[in-house]
Amino acid sequence: MYEKITPPTTGAKITFKNGEPIVPDNPIIPFIRGDGTGIDIWPATEKVLDAAVTKAYKGKRKISWFKVYAGDEACDLYGTYQYLPQDTLTAIKEYGVAIKGPLTTPVGGGIRSLNVALRQIFDLYACVRPCRYYAGTPSPHKNPEKLDVIVYRENTEDIYLGIEWKQGSEIGNRLIKILNEELIPATPEHGKKQIPLDAGIGIKPISVSGSKRLVRRAIKHALILPKDKQQVTLVHKGNIMKYTEGAFRDWGYEVATTEFRQECVTERESWILGNKEKNANISSEENARMIDPGFDALTPEKKAQIVKEVETVLNSIWASHGNGKWKEKIMVNDRIADSIFQQIQTRPDEYSILATMNLNGDYLSDAAAAIVGGLGMGPGANIGDSCAVFEATHGTAPKHAGLDKINPGSVILSGVMMLEYMGWQEAADLIKKGLSAAIANGEVTYDLARMIEPPVKPLKCSEFADAIIKHFG
Ligand code: NAP
Repeated sequence: MYEKITPPTTGAKITFKNGEPIVPDNPIIPFIRGDGTGIDIWPATEKVLDAAVTKAYKGKRKISWFKVYAGDEACDLYGTYQYLPQDTLTAIKEYGVAIKGPLTTPVGGGIRSLNVALRQIFDLYACVRPCRYYAGTPSPHKNPEKLDVIVYRENTEDIYLGIEWKQGSEIGNRLIKILNEELIPATPEHGKKQIPLDAGIGIKPISVSGSKRLVRRAIKHALILPKDKQQVTLVHKGNIMKYTEGAFRDWGYEVATTEFRQECVTERESWILGNKEKNANISSEENARMIDPGFDALTPEKKAQIVKEVETVLNSIWASHGNGKWKEKIMVNDRIADSIFQQIQTRPDEYSILATMNLNGDYLSDAAAAIVGGLGMGPGANIGDSCAVFEATHGTAPKHAGLDKINPGSVILSGVMMLEYMGWQEAADLIKKGLSAAIANGEVTYDLARMIEPPVKPLKCSEFADAIIKHFG
């Protein structure tokens, strides 16, 4: 089955049912050490994960690590341009859950990015990035501890699909001609708009299936969060891009109000229900006026639409959601993308899970990570229905490679996400506790040490791992 690698002789496979992992007590988990600083980060990560599992389960549970290769390390073993060997793909497919350090982006061999390749090959459609603050981490913000969000970013479509044509290319020019001369004139709402003849062109597909599966996973995650964090915010720019970004919002609400009807309430529904609770005899029209302050200025059709919405909500979910029961449900709301960038800074504690399309999520997850102390501490995961890969969000930082200096926090926290995904919460909690205590105690690597006031002496990468374990308690 494998050309150059051998799976561990002990351990069992993680399998999947309805998109969720079924985890044995001794799972085999493939790991990719990573290039550059991966050589320092991986041993530190493995040590912390193993120590936490041992302490939490006293030998009842254990991970059997399976070393697989990607990036420069793979080329050394498999030959030139073998950045992502078939052995590695077979192992990840076979064992379902994998973890990886940072990988160099290849400069030849036809692969644009190994991370993107892995996401596409295994249909890892949800990029999950939790951003929470660990006390003591230097942050540019006054109250970084108020931000505790998880970004669920769609991974397979939007402009990141990479379908674009260069300005001046033959196909690009043909496409512009067809759009300008046939398709735009055939669409009355576009009026006399025309695409500049000297434009490059990119395509932004947003699908029903892609949007719904992402939001579905985000809502499922909200279900297991503490009550006060059970909220999913659909992030979009639907005021400008109705049929892509606006459609993502609409399909997201559709998932919430059909597939998760008993578990979810939308923000507008909560206003309607709350109004009725405050004023027992309020009419539908008065109710509509209260949920939409601009109601009186609306067209008769729009007014009728909102009144109908009020009546539909009250008729259909009053029994299950009324009389305050909606407060126990997952709140699903939506925010315009530019507004959410402000709000994670000005009202960070109002948000929990942010479900986004690809490009918005790309910006938003880095912005949120910056608030809580930067990428060195930012974990990430790419999750599909039959596979999940946990990974560092930073790169290989080659100038620091092999110096036992770099911060392993991002991969260690990705390991925490992996343990949580596996349902091994006790081990995950130990690591979070150890990491919090180490940072609060000023036991940190150079990147954090240089920003702490007054300055502290930095620990080595391996010493930081030991400090985390020491603080398990
Ligand atoms: P980078 O590797 O992320 O490093 C840029 C800088 O970020 C480093 O010089 C260091 O800053 C800081 N940094 C990175 N990792 C850190 C850590 N664990 N702890 C503390 N500080 C850390 O970005 P790059 O130099 O642009 O990219 C290098 C290679 O990585 C490229 O081939 C790129 O394509 C690849 N890459 C891979 C991934 C991935 O695998 N997920 C992601 C991004 C980039 P100071 O030197 O100032 O301390």
